[in-house]
Amino acid sequence: MCDNNRMPIADDKEYRGKEFRCPFCLANILHIVNMDTPFGATFEGGGCPSCGAVFSVDHSGKNQGELYMDTLAYAFGWDFDAAIEADPDSYEEAVVRFNPKIAKYLLGEAERADRSPKYIFIKRLTKDA
Ligand SMILES: [Zn+2]
Repeated sequence: MCDNNRMPIADDKEYRGKEFRCPFCLANILHIVNMDTPFGATFEGGGCPSCGAVFSVDHSGKNQGELYMDTLAYAFGWDFDAAIEADPDSYEEAVVRFNPKIAKYLLGEAERADRSPKYIFIKRLTKDA
């Protein structure tokens, strides 16, 4: 585990002067770690300290399918069966791009050509939510 990989300060209209934040609850997310999955792969991501959302980092921006599934499994405690069978209404997803070099969030269709890392967030919803 590596706790040294802190996100830089974001700087755009929505997040100006703020740090990398959870897209669901806007809590600061300071740490990204590399962890080993139960299946022997390495997973780079982390979790929101406030709402419990988890996220993964897709450096290429082109690995979404597999990484999305891994992220969903992570949200379900690495239970792939539970993740696959989960009701899509039982979780929320959000994908954001964050460019560390310019410390800027990149949102929307216009940013497709950008090569910034993509962050896939998944938050499980409780029944009483
Ligand atoms: Zn959160």
